[in-house]
Amino acid sequence: CYLNLSGFGGLKWFRPIGLQHVFDLKARYPDAKLVVGNTEVGIEMRLKSMHYPVLISVTHVPELNMLSVKDDGMEIGAAVRLSELVKVLKKVTAERASYETSSCRAFIEQIKWFAGTQIKNVASVGGNICTASPISDLNPLWMAARAMFRIIDCKGNIRTTLAENFFLGYRKVDLASGEVLLSIFLPWTRPFEHVKEFKQAHRRDDDIAIVNAGMRVILEEKNQKWVISDASIVYGGVAPLSLRASRTKDFLIGKSWNKELLQGALKVLENDIFLKEDAPGGMVEFRRSLTLSFFFKFFLWVSQQMD
Ligand code: FAD
Repeated sequence: CYLNLSGFGGLKWFRPIGLQHVFDLKARYPDAKLVVGNTEVGIEMRLKSMHYPVLISVTHVPELNMLSVKDDGMEIGAAVRLSELVKVLKKVTAERASYETSSCRAFIEQIKWFAGTQIKNVASVGGNICTASPISDLNPLWMAARAMFRIIDCKGNIRTTLAENFFLGYRKVDLASGEVLLSIFLPWTRPFEHVKEFKQAHRRDDDIAIVNAGMRVILEEKNQKWVISDASIVYGGVAPLSLRASRTKDFLIGKSWNKELLQGALKVLENDIFLKEDAPGGMVEFRRSLTLSFFFKFFLWVSQQMD
């Protein structure tokens, strides 16, 4: 299926119906741009004067639209729309053991405050990931939730990378020009593993984040104490890319979950996620306090879960 839109400067719009067709088109037009909801590409073309003469709409590619519930987690096709994702996450959350769906619930909550219904009905999971916006609401959560991205090339080779290694810089991802993001694997959470989302925007509804975050800890009982065996603290809106608080993670691992831990972690976090006075985006004092208060809220929330 192919449209030549002469009124749009000869723009070619393709709508392939299989992944092989996508790669055939990419071989013919190496600079062609993939689109799903067009909510990023459309803005670039209309408001940022970007010119993409060949667009490949992958909305009807079955391989990119699969949603499969497995024993160890969920496989989500890159072209799955956010509204569709929420439906399945809700179903999974109702059906599976509660401890397995901590990440699912965090995604449901975060998507509640993601744009409006019209955008969510067309915007895709992969479009959000591949745009790699520093204020993406979902990328910090994929990273915190130990998600894996599956990437396919024109020969059908599939490689897998951890979400936390996928984002390389400002709107820059680990994807070669001949590669396509195929799917996202979201693992179920384990007993005593807790994942939580955070977002602060000017408005509650339909607004972009000032700062957002995804956080995860897994606790283990040792000598009648709850000890952190793994953690992941990731922020958006504080750097050119979604940013891991690596030193805070290192500080947390092996420590007992108590008030001293909170005090110590906040001190480490203050220097770990450091916004310079002249950081792009302004509101530096506010954003600094948000990074700390999100962690404070996370601490309280996890403590409640353990009661
Ligand atoms: P598209 O515009 O179709 O594509 C985006 C990019 O991804 C393109 O570069 C495309 O080539 C690439 N791409 C798509 N699929 C693949 C693939 N399988 N492999 C490789 N590359 C691929 N974002 C937030 O995080 N939070 C918000 O609250 C929010 N609110 C918004 C409100 C409005 C009004 C608008 C216009 C946007 C908002 N966004 C928000 C941003 C946007 O909606 C999301 O990033 C959306 O998920 C992008 O998906 P899409 O399918 O529309 O992407």
